Amino acid sequence: MKWVSSRGSSPPVSFVDALFAGTAPDGGLYMPERFDPLPPATLDALRHTTDIVEIGSLVGAHLLRDEMSASDLAALVKDALDFPVPLVPVSDRVWALELFHGPTLAFKDVGARVQARLLHHFTDGTPLTILVATSGDTGSAVAQAFHRVPDTRVVVLYPEGKVSDVQEAQMASLGDNITAVAVAGTFDDCQRLVKQAFADDDLRTHVWLTPANSINLGRLLPQVFYYFTLMSPEPARLEKPPIVSVPSGNFGSLTAGLIAKRLGLAVERFVASTNVNDVVPEYLRTGQYRPRPSIRTVANAMDVGAPSNFERMQAMYNQDLDRLRHDVSGVAFEDQRVLDEIRDMYHRTGYLLDPHGAIAWLGLQQAMATSPDAIGVFLATAHPAKFREVVEPAIGEAVPLPTVLADALTRPRHSVRLPAEYPALARLLRS
Ligand SMILES: *Cc1c(COP(=O)(O)O)cnc(C)c1O
Repeated sequence: MKWVSSRGSSPPVSFVDALFAGTAPDGGLYMPERFDPLPPATLDALRHTTDIVEIGSLVGAHLLRDEMSASDLAALVKDALDFPVPLVPVSDRVWALELFHGPTLAFKDVGARVQARLLHHFTDGTPLTILVATSGDTGSAVAQAFHRVPDTRVVVLYPEGKVSDVQEAQMASLGDNITAVAVAGTFDDCQRLVKQAFADDDLRTHVWLTPANSINLGRLLPQVFYYFTLMSPEPARLEKPPIVSVPSGNFGSLTAGLIAKRLGLAVERFVASTNVNDVVPEYLRTGQYRPRPSIRTVANAMDVGAPSNFERMQAMYNQDLDRLRHDVSGVAFEDQRVLDEIRDMYHRTGYLLDPHGAIAWLGLQQAMATSPDAIGVFLATAHPAKFREVVEPAIGEAVPLPTVLADALTRPRHSVRLPAEYPALARLLRS
């Protein structure tokens, strides 16, 4: 199977070329050329398992059938997804799909850990350098994902003194093949330095550089896997196709859900749940698409004003709004509503939501209000402790730090400090 650009004016490429390229030459994002449904035997096997490793091996083997042996893929998925993805009952007819039990306690671990191992699998042993600029969260997920992956070095640039304590600990306490670089400057300086490195042809003849951005196929594909945990009737007794609410920012997760549906997953419909950065819900309502600068909210991993995966969704639906509306509805929530719901839900049921999961739960409630017989699932994408500066004041209680976060805070940190000047970075990358 070939992989094509969402803009349709670049030649189709192999999965490996798409994986290492990031974006297509025409500026579009790579996606499968065709959506061949899963074979009946695979669908049948998926009805009998809730194990994410087994599910990932089955679905991945179908998507990468021309690229990788099923046994290599199964080993890769087992190594990457070494944490549970449970479907937890929250109320009578609602389940939370908890995606936050990985090493950085957010669902980006799923994509980043599989992407890291795919890159490693397809290299020929030439040492690879992953270069990434971060304002905090992406850098920690990427650094953790590539930690101790052989022949791979990660250089992550962050603005000195401008990331949270936990974020810095998660990047700078790893050591081994992870170099955390504290840049004397802003996040924009970090991004500029990374761009300069990718534009430095002389450097790139000596050092094999790859980006690790979130629009990469290596991150998108594994996100398709977790939707298939909804295929098995056990243990959640999903006796009919659920409404699935997806907390959305860049819309990678929702796009993966739409791909899962094309492959044969039975879903009643999806809800695109956002904070006030609501360009997609607005588009679904009015037909007007107006990307704009983002607004800061309590669910800041979804503060995106121009979602990059929108063009993948549009390409999948041939720009046909009515067809998209058939599968997806959209809804947005303001911060106060989110904080009130975190408190009420906790006091009513004992279930503690993080701000992103709370938005998904709210979106699901709204969708189910007009479908009284429906059952629902929402994606819980971050551990509440990861956003304790928001969650603790909302519930009026302390949220204990899980051991992985507490441990990271106590480990020694080794950052390299650099001025915000390109020659210093070039020297570090050549060393
Ligand atoms: C990135 C992120 C999201 C949004 O996912 P997209 O694929 O960008 O829509 C939601 N919740 C959390 C915690 C995230 O980190």
